[in-house]
Amino acid sequence: MDCGEGAQGRFVKFGLGLNREMLILITHLHGDHVNGLVGLLQTMGMSQRIRTLTIVAPQELLGWLEMTMKVLHIGLTFDVAFVPVRSGVVHRGKDFRVRAARASHSIEAWSFRFEELPRPGVFDRAKADSLGIPEGKKWSSLQRGRTVVVGGVSFHPSQVLGPARPGRSIGYSGDTRPTRRLARFFSGAELLIFESTFASKDADKAVERKHSTASEAAQLAKDAGAKRLVLTHFSARYRRADALLREAQKIFPETLAASDGLVVEILPSQ
Ligand SMILES: [Zn+2]
Ligand SMILES: [Zn+2]
Repeated sequence: MDCGEGAQGRFVKFGLGLNREMLILITHLHGDHVNGLVGLLQTMGMSQRIRTLTIVAPQELLGWLEMTMKVLHIGLTFDVAFVPVRSGVVHRGKDFRVRAARASHSIEAWSFRFEELPRPGVFDRAKADSLGIPEGKKWSSLQRGRTVVVGGVSFHPSQVLGPARPGRSIGYSGDTRPTRRLARFFSGAELLIFESTFASKDADKAVERKHSTASEAAQLAKDAGAKRLVLTHFSARYRRADALLREAQKIFPETLAASDGLVVEILPSQ
């Protein structure tokens, strides 16, 4: 989600792997959100990436990317599938989908929501045993939602699986003012990553430059019923993010400040 100047360096530092299934989501065309893209693509090419890379971004990005690649004679070892961003579902993966919604910034900008599809219910081992279904292949087929036949009798997954469990979701604001649309868009997200450029004392600047304060991010997370909030995109005017974090925690206690390499585990909801 976005690709600032430091992106490729962090990819290598944290061993994220450059030839994985990957999707790049760009919220808007300000330098701090795209300056790392060409370098990242080039590094992927040099590490012999072969998988197609999908990029979802405002349409104008494509022209800039194509021209830069041509002028700098950058050839890639993989295909890029470009998807112009629009409201609604912008990508469907095997077990997830990504939706986009309009943000409110000084130029065209978008927010994204990564959604895991509902997962199968919990497998009832005792029930499977009592029905005489042998452990092994038959069990895993049922877990994957397939009907199996044992001794001429067919068994449906619903006989041994609990109700489907909702998938987890992650929201990402990009640069934006807090809006009611975004509070709805991020409704119930397990994790919300929201920009927090300013502290409350600089709230006038947040309005003027179309950004959010830490308190506004926290209020939006609360209104959306998000489970956890990660603040990011701090203005360089603040030496440390502590004050912004404290401000947000007063409104929404489950708040963290983003830092390089931060790992947040998102537990499955039951
Ligand atoms: Zn911006
Ligand atoms: Zn920015």
